[in-house]
Amino acid sequence: MGRPQRIAIRHARVFDSAHARLLDGCTVVVEGERIAAVTREPIAVDDAEVVDAEGRALLPGLIDAHVHVVAASHDLAGLALQPASLVGAEASRIMRAMLQRGFTTVRDAGGADFGLREAQARGLYEGPRLFIAGAPISQTGGHSDLRPRGVRGRDLYCACAGLGLAGAIADGADEVRRAVREQLRNGADQIKIMAGGGISSPNDPLEGTQYALGELAAAVEEADAAGVYAMAHAYSARAVTRAVQAGVRSIEHGNLIDAATARVMKRHGAFLVPTLATYAALAAEGARLGWSEAMRAKLAVVADRGIEAIRLARAEGVPVVFGTDLLGHMHAQQSNEFTLRAAAVPPLELLQSATHTAAQLLRQDGRLGQITPGAWADLLLVEGDPARDLGMLARPEQGIALLMQAGRVLRPLAAR
Ligand SMILES: [Zn+2]
Repeated sequence: MGRPQRIAIRHARVFDSAHARLLDGCTVVVEGERIAAVTREPIAVDDAEVVDAEGRALLPGLIDAHVHVVAASHDLAGLALQPASLVGAEASRIMRAMLQRGFTTVRDAGGADFGLREAQARGLYEGPRLFIAGAPISQTGGHSDLRPRGVRGRDLYCACAGLGLAGAIADGADEVRRAVREQLRNGADQIKIMAGGGISSPNDPLEGTQYALGELAAAVEEADAAGVYAMAHAYSARAVTRAVQAGVRSIEHGNLIDAATARVMKRHGAFLVPTLATYAALAAEGARLGWSEAMRAKLAVVADRGIEAIRLARAEGVPVVFGTDLLGHMHAQQSNEFTLRAAAVPPLELLQSATHTAAQLLRQDGRLGQITPGAWADLLLVEGDPARDLGMLARPEQGIALLMQAGRVLRPLAAR
């Protein structure tokens, strides 16, 4: 074994994601797959390949904490009937595009399995490293029970059928425990549970709560026993409060929270993962997707409230993390989340939400989302000034000048 490859990036304006500030005149040394040094002092780099950043900003690889890499279609019930091999191939294409947008890590909020995580880790295709939840866990008639009314059996549309977004349907604390253990047996990095109504599901009221408190607590207890945390889909103040009180760490969407709910979240150390990009995309696509009147009415209720929820969470000191939740061809809107959140969040704090805060949520502090010795060498060299705006991330084809994942250069810096 020879020495690992060394790359030195000089004259970089490094984003210190832990403190949401930029540090001029840094040299970052990458050794193999990791960051070896970050310094403003003179450092010998004779043995390294040298990249001159020419004062550009160097960011940690981005993290999207709410994606569905298997969501090749917005028609989730139809997707559940597709063969897993086909959905897997589609997922690899979706993941490759995410990586090209600068997302070197994503947390899957339901659907992706350990095979996809392993395929990416082995380099069978290029994509973000994956943190998987396995099948989302839902009560009968809950948010990931995709069966149209009239369908009786469970098998056709349940998680055992394919690789789509169909839930593991579980009712009662014992079934919930079994469903959580099943995801853990299959290598889940986190557990996803449906704690309230949703938009894409045909049969549940948006403002409703799902699961009894004992069922939620059972899910959290089982996850906790395996050293894993739970993320919960929830919109209404009541659904969010119940989930957080049951020990859920990560609230997904959360559009309808109020200040009191944000305070409960803060007290319990919960994170909020809003997903504005998907509402914007769905609203624009309108009826063309074939969604029912009822589903579009639910969309209208949450779309307006998303940015307000971010303001409420920030005001109470709840950590807010970057997420998108896009489906099908709308995945192309992933980077639009930066533009949408700019209305409520200053640029460097927004960048922090997609790097350091996301890494904290994933319990990957010091390994991901930070340019620090020992972390994965996931790096973006970007055009423009991230302290002013994040337009370079909203248009990643032009804005990201160099893209590196685990020390591998995927987009080399072109000569100016
Ligand atoms: Zn989702």
